[in-house]
Amino acid sequence: MISEEELKLENQRLIGHLRFVGIKDEKVLKAILEVPRHLFLPMNMWYIAYADDALPLEHKQTISQPYTVAIMIEALELKKGDKVLEVGTASGWNACLIAKIIDPGIIYTTEIIKELVEYAGKNIKRLDIKNIKITHTDGSLGYEKEAPFDKIIVTCACREIPPPLLEQLKNNGILVAPVGSKLSQQMIKITKQGKKLKKDYLGDFVFVPLLGRYGWR
Ligand code: SAH
Repeated sequence: MISEEELKLENQRLIGHLRFVGIKDEKVLKAILEVPRHLFLPMNMWYIAYADDALPLEHKQTISQPYTVAIMIEALELKKGDKVLEVGTASGWNACLIAKIIDPGIIYTTEIIKELVEYAGKNIKRLDIKNIKITHTDGSLGYEKEAPFDKIIVTCACREIPPPLLEQLKNNGILVAPVGSKLSQQMIKITKQGKKLKKDYLGDFVFVPLLGRYGWR
């Protein structure tokens, strides 16, 4: 059995690695230190919880790679009080990191697989993080009920940015999503400037596909 002390050291080593590969936002690094990734994985995977890799979850889904998560959260330019929408809760780790940074703002996170909504719900409850609302729904349609959002993050691969997400983004809001084919995607940061969309490209990544109305089926 790997001890709490060893897991803490592994987490600190991961932070050092993320600094080395170019992550500079101290808020993001602090959140990764404060939200232990191993708690979002089954116990038999704790020994690799702090590797900079995506890891498998049940139902053919994954917990994203720490570097990828850090790049995406950094790009969102999160502020305290932000209202955020996430598409793709899976383990809930990413939602918890964002929740820590925006507190007292709220993150609304959507997940299409019911069992993962329950899995993430348990993980979040254990950490006693209150500013996350999980919903079992097709997030490719956004979350009309709470729109508009300051920031939107999509943690699964899109063919195109689902139009409802752009509609539900506030003016000057930021959306980050991987867009491309099923095999590989480019991370896109979109800043809404009135009728104009400013686009920045953040590199190539690989995600599990977005399902639902604007997804792959
Ligand atoms: N953010 C997660 C990793 C996401 S993996 C973490 O921190 O662990 C991508 C997730 O997106 C999968 O769980 C998948 O079921 C979910 N997903 C796919 N299509 C979706 C849709 N249309 N709406 C909501 N969730 C979706």
